[in-house]
Amino acid sequence: MENKVVLFNTLTRKTEQLVPRTDGKIGMYTCGPTVYHFAHIGNLRCYIMEDILEKTLRYIGYDVKRVMNITDVGHLSSDGDTGEDKMLKGAKREHKTVMEIAKFYTDAFFSDCAKLNIKRPDVVEPATNCIDGFIEMVQKLLDTGYAYVAGGNVYFDTSKLENYYVFSGQSEQELMVGVREDVGEDSNKRNKSDFVLWFTKSKFDNQELKWDSPWGVGYPGWHIECSCIGIRHLGEYMDIHCGGVDNIFPHHTNEIAQSEAYLGHAWCSYWFHVHHLNEKGGKKMSKSNGEFLTLSLLEEKGYNPLIYRFFCLQSHYRKPLEFSYEVLDNVGVAYDKLKKRVQSLAGDGETEEQKFSEYRARFEGALCDDLNTSMAITVIYDVLRDEMNDATKRALIQSFDEVLSLSLFVAEQQKGEADKELEAYVLEKLEERKAAKKEKDFAKADAIRDELAAKGVQIKDTREGTVWSMR
Ligand code: AMP
Ligand code: ZN
Repeated sequence: MENKVVLFNTLTRKTEQLVPRTDGKIGMYTCGPTVYHFAHIGNLRCYIMEDILEKTLRYIGYDVKRVMNITDVGHLSSDGDTGEDKMLKGAKREHKTVMEIAKFYTDAFFSDCAKLNIKRPDVVEPATNCIDGFIEMVQKLLDTGYAYVAGGNVYFDTSKLENYYVFSGQSEQELMVGVREDVGEDSNKRNKSDFVLWFTKSKFDNQELKWDSPWGVGYPGWHIECSCIGIRHLGEYMDIHCGGVDNIFPHHTNEIAQSEAYLGHAWCSYWFHVHHLNEKGGKKMSKSNGEFLTLSLLEEKGYNPLIYRFFCLQSHYRKPLEFSYEVLDNVGVAYDKLKKRVQSLAGDGETEEQKFSEYRARFEGALCDDLNTSMAITVIYDVLRDEMNDATKRALIQSFDEVLSLSLFVAEQQKGEADKELEAYVLEKLEERKAAKKEKDFAKADAIRDELAAKGVQIKDTREGTVWSMR
């Protein structure tokens, strides 16, 4: 198929044409949440923009497989190998076990995602499911001389690579800030940039989750999980790897080091990084400083979560975004107005084919240009202003909303809690039905239609996708 997306690639620091390894197919990986606390709205900005990327790729016809890990072990409070274990910290705070904490915050994360119309990735894999894979990978790195055992832990030897600092434009000095402290604390490391693959003799005597390994009872480092889970579900090559900019170093740098050493060849072609959501004054929103904004807090203050989604879509993913209630209020007013206008469009009549293709091309053009979401939103307003008939406007905006996912056609009275749950349920079922149809499992597709009908949900397949309404 025609490759028409251009994306900024952190690896080359250039905006490049996206060319997947297999024509028409994209393997996409997302660093998932560390489930020791609620996601803050900064984390959610990242997942909203990644969701837009995935949906854009699907919209223009790619067959996308998206994989996400859940970090439920191994992430220390510094992104290097120092500090407390985040999961243990969460468990202590709430007097629960690590697995209880992981389950609770994983569910909370996906509930936030559902409220924000973020599609669940095709594969969601908790790190604790893959310990055998981590051990196999670490063993191979030891066998091939890329890793060493020291003081009971296994370390990756970064001096074995020609270019450890693969993300260009970053100097060693700039990147070593967090790691330098390690050298003093951890004299086992041969080089200051080496990192832990497997901990056994760590400072966490009270570590709850431990597994047997050839190097003693212990637990994996954080970075190895994303390499292993990515390779396990997407194979030896990955097209796009996503995350927030704070993941570039050391996390993604270390993922590349160990994956390429393990595979013996280049691994992932495009690195997509979302910039931070900042608090007023420019400070990065972060979970570890204790005070942060959650989606539930916004809801308590009366904001529809989709207003936050709309807020995020107004700015470019590669720019820092400052959160403020004033701006959120303005976005809320714009959102309600837009919904009203869109919902007042009459649905009957013939679609004007030429107008439809012209505007669809403009919408696609905006998103394919390094995900210019604010331009894509401008296209909605241009459609509303145009002289085409209402049916065409409706069809276009309904189609755009497959990507933007702002629920523009969900009626106001469906805003209640029960209705939001219903909407999330219907969207999930429609995805399942789409997949069943693709697999030519028409019996399953019909069963889903019946299941929805039993709940009073009527669906209609149109050329622009499936639309639904309450009977
Ligand atoms: P964590 O749960 O801390 O592992 O982070 C989940 C994702 O959110 C990662 O991809 C981070 O890079 C990203 N992230 C963390 N803080 C922010 C922020 N303030 N704004 C946007 N993304 C963030
Ligand atoms: Zn990761």
